[in-house]
Amino acid sequence: MSPKLTEAQILQALEQNYSLKGKLVPLPSYADLNFKLITKQSDYVIKVANCADSHLNLDMQNAAMQHLADQQLSVPHAINNHQQTTITELMDAHGKRCHLRVLSYLEGRFYSDAKPDKHNINLWRSLGRFLGEIDQVLLSFNHPGAYRYIKWDLSHGLGVCQTKKHLLDDDNLDLVEHFLTRYQIHVLPNLASCPQAIIHNDANDYNLLIDQPDAPKAIIGIIDFGDMVYSHQINEVAIATAYAILGQDDLQQVITEVITGYHQNRPLNQTELSCVYYLIALRLCTSLCNAAEAIQREPNNEYLLVSVKPAIEALKKLRKLSAFSCELKLLKTCGLTHDIAEQYQKISDYRNRHMARSLSLSYQQPLKIERGEGAYLIDANGDAYLDMVNNVCHVGHCHPDVVLAGQRQMAKLNTNTRYLHENIVNFTQKLLATFPESLSVCMLVNSGSEANELAFRLAQAYTQSKQLIVVDGAYHGNTAACVNASPYKFDGSGGQGAEPHIHKVALPDPYRGIHQGSEPVIAEAYAESVSKAIETIHSNGDKVGAYICESLQGVAGQIIMPNGYLKSVYEKVRAANGVCIADEVQVGFGRVGTHMWAFQTQGVIPDIVTLGKPIGNGHPLAAVIVKKEIADAFANGMEFFNTFGGNPVSCAIGEAVLDVIEKESLQQNALDVGNYMRSELLKLQDKYDLIGDVRGVGLFNGVELVNDRSSKEPATEKMEWLIEHFKRNKILLTSEGPHYNILKIKPPIIFSKQNTDYFIQVLEQGLIELEQQ
Ligand code: PMP
Repeated sequence: MSPKLTEAQILQALEQNYSLKGKLVPLPSYADLNFKLITKQSDYVIKVANCADSHLNLDMQNAAMQHLADQQLSVPHAINNHQQTTITELMDAHGKRCHLRVLSYLEGRFYSDAKPDKHNINLWRSLGRFLGEIDQVLLSFNHPGAYRYIKWDLSHGLGVCQTKKHLLDDDNLDLVEHFLTRYQIHVLPNLASCPQAIIHNDANDYNLLIDQPDAPKAIIGIIDFGDMVYSHQINEVAIATAYAILGQDDLQQVITEVITGYHQNRPLNQTELSCVYYLIALRLCTSLCNAAEAIQREPNNEYLLVSVKPAIEALKKLRKLSAFSCELKLLKTCGLTHDIAEQYQKISDYRNRHMARSLSLSYQQPLKIERGEGAYLIDANGDAYLDMVNNVCHVGHCHPDVVLAGQRQMAKLNTNTRYLHENIVNFTQKLLATFPESLSVCMLVNSGSEANELAFRLAQAYTQSKQLIVVDGAYHGNTAACVNASPYKFDGSGGQGAEPHIHKVALPDPYRGIHQGSEPVIAEAYAESVSKAIETIHSNGDKVGAYICESLQGVAGQIIMPNGYLKSVYEKVRAANGVCIADEVQVGFGRVGTHMWAFQTQGVIPDIVTLGKPIGNGHPLAAVIVKKEIADAFANGMEFFNTFGGNPVSCAIGEAVLDVIEKESLQQNALDVGNYMRSELLKLQDKYDLIGDVRGVGLFNGVELVNDRSSKEPATEKMEWLIEHFKRNKILLTSEGPHYNILKIKPPIIFSKQNTDYFIQVLEQGLIELEQQ
C-alpha cells in the first residue's frame, strides 16, 4: 500500500528537514510515492517509501548508492537531512510510519525511450561494461539489509515459478516448464561455483539511463536500488540481458555483447558462463508467472496482457538457440576457451596409443561432440548437428525427464535385483503392458548383445537345440554368440564364416534381393529359404533351435520385408518345434509409428523379443520379453544373476522413457513425420534418377542410391560424398547395406516436420551437385 501523504505535507517536511523549497512533479512508481522536486538550485528525486519497507533496507540502499558514487559511478545518492541522516521518518494519514528520502537527480533518458530497432552493439556492450563496473565496486560493499528474501531475487526464481506456473495457459506453461527443468539440471547443481555479492538486481529498461534515444551508444546511469539483494552476481547481468533481448531478432548477438562487456570489468568464470543462458530464461519465466498472477487479480487489465508479449516472444526465440552453443560462444568472446585443435590432437593421440584399434571413428575429420539437446548434437565449436542416425537417444538427447529420473534414483539407491524394489515392478509392468498377453515375462539386462545372448540361451533351454537360423546380412551384437549369429560380421572383413550350427537364409529384400517385389508370392518364396534351412538341420540329424530376425532389417540395409514373410516363416519354424526370436533392438518403441513394436507390422507374435538401444534413451539397459513356458524351461536350477540388469536406476530411466513416449505422443509423431518424410523423398525420387528406392515405416527409412535404375549398380562413392555433404550442412547421417549405398534414416522420434524440411532441402542440393559432377 502506498503511503497516504499530500504534496503539501511532503513539501512541508522537505522544508523542515532539508531547507528545500520547490515544486513537486509526480513520478511513476510501483509501490512508493515518488516525485521530482524542482528547486531554484537543482532538481531532486523525493521518495516516500512504502510503509512495509524497513529502515534497514532503505539504509542499505542509501549506503550502496553512496559507496558507488564515491567511486565516481553514475548513480543517485541520498542527501542528508538536518540530523545528518539520509532517512526522515513521517506519519501518514493512516497513522503509519513512512520514510522520506531526498536523492540527487540524474540527467538522462531511459533505455526504454530508445525503440528496440535503435538498440545496437555499442549500447549492449556499454550495458555490460556499466554493470560489470557497478558489480566490481559492490564487491567491497556489505550491509545487513541486503540479506533478505524478495520474489525478484533470481536465486528464488524457480520457487516463484513453481508456485505460480499453474496460472499460465497451456502454451506458456509448456514454454516455462521447458526452461525450468533445464534450469534444475544445468544450473542448480552449479550455483555453488557462482560467486555471490550484493547486486543492484533490477537493471531493466526503466532503470537504465542512456545518452540519447535516437542513436544510443552508452549507458550513463542507473537508478532505483529498491531490489538490491545479496545473490549470485551473475544474476545482475542475466536480468539486464533478459530485458535487453526483448524485441530483438538476434538474441545471440545481444547476449554476447552484454555478457562480454560485463566480463571486461567483472570477470566471469566458466560456470557462470554456462548458467547465464538459463538464468536469462528464468528471469523471463519469472516475469511471465508474476504477470499471470497479476492478470488473475485484474483480468481486464489490457496493459498486463500486452506487457508479457515481448517476454513470451523472447522465450520462444531463446528456445531455438542452443544453450551450449551460446555458452561456447561466450567462452570464446570472453577468452576462456582452450585451443580446439589441440584438444582434438590430444584425444586422437591417446586413442591411437591406448584404445583398441578395432574402434572406429566417423567421418574423414572426426567430430568432437560435447552436448546433446533434443534432435541435435553439438560439437566443440558450438555447431549444432541434426542427428538423423541416433535411434538410441530415442526421445531426444538428454531429455530432461529421463535425466531427472536417473539423477534422482542415483542419489537414493542403486543395487542388484536381490532386494525387493518398486522400480523394477513399475517399469516391467509398463513395458509388458505394451506386448501381447502371451509375452508375459521380462528379463532385464544391459545391452542388445546381452539380450540376444540370453535369448539364445532361453531358446536352447526350451528346445534343447542350439541350431540357429539367421537372416543374411543381419547383425545381432558383439558377444561370441551374437557374432556367430551375425552374417554381417562372420561373412564380413575379419570374419570366419558360419559355424556349423548356424544356418543362413536369404535376406527378404524386395528391391535388391533374389526375389524382387513385395507381393505375397515373394514373401512365400523367401520363406521357402527357411524351409530349406529346416530341412538341412533335420538331415543333419539335429533339432531346430531358433530363428532370429530383426522385425525390420537395420544393418542389412533398412529393409522392409514383404508382407506375410514373418507369418509364413514363424509357422514353419514352429511346425519344426523351433522358437521365433524378434530382434527389436533397433526398431522398437514406437519408431514404426503404426505400432509400438515392429513385429506387429507383420501381424505375428514372436516367442522371444529382444529390446535395447532406445529403451534407456542412452543409458545401458536392455530386455528380453519371453513367453512363460520358455522362461520356465530356463529356470532349471541354475541361477540367472546379472549384477546391473534391472537395477533401480536403470528401471527409473526405462520407466521415464516409456512415460515420455506416451506423454509426448511420440509414436504418433513417428507416424506423421515419417509419412511426410517419405512423401517428400518420393518427390525427389521422381526428379533424380540417382534415387533407386525409397522405403521405410515411421521414422525408420532408407534411400538407396544407384548409378543406373535398371542394373541397380550401387552408387557407393556418391553416397560417401553425400554423407560428407550432409555433415558440411550440419546433418549427421550414415550409409548402410552390403554396398554402403543406402542412406540410413533413424533419428530420435521427436524429429519434426521442420527438421524434415531441412533434411530434404540439403539432400536435394546434394543430388543436384552429384548430377553435375
Ligand atoms: N541387435 C541389433 C539389431 C543391433 O542393431 C544391435 C546394435 N547395433 C544389437 C543387437 C547389439 O546391441 P548392443 O550394441 O547394445 O550390444
